[in-house]
Formats: sequence, structure tokens, C-alpha cells
Amino acid sequence: MTNKNYRKVFKQLKAKPAKLKKFLKHNAPKRRKFGIGARRCKLCGSFKAHIRRYGLHLCRRCFREEATKIGFKKYS
Ligand SMILES: [Zn+2]
Repeated sequence: MTNKNYRKVFKQLKAKPAKLKKFLKHNAPKRRKFGIGARRCKLCGSFKAHIRRYGLHLCRRCFREEATKIGFKKYS
């Protein structure tokens, strides 16, 4: 079982509660307090190019798509 987001495996393991318990115990990722690994994009889950300003918590790619909907305006 390899997956980018470990929560996706929950769907498969719901039929096997004992295995799910074991999976949670041994495979849950470590909670990061700081650094790149602590912040992820709230839309796509990416760790890279994260924008924290104004409490956006988006990556640059999602920001480009969502900026006009949020109310950002391009002046150039
Ligand atoms: Zn994103």
C-alpha cells in the first residue's frame, strides 16, 4: 500500500477494522511542528510554494486559480 495521502487507504481498510487499527498505529505520519512538512495547501495538499500571507494557506498554483474568486486583482 503506497499512497501520497495516507488517509486514502482508510476507505480500503474500513472492511478490516483490525488491520485499520494496526495501520493507524504504525503508519500515521509524524505531526510536524515547523518547516515545509508542517504546512500544506488546503486545496490540493501540496507542500511546495505555500502562501501563508493573509491566512490563505494555498500553494502558488491553487492561488493563481482562486485569486480572482477571493478578490485579488491584477494591476499589471
Ligand atoms: Zn494547492
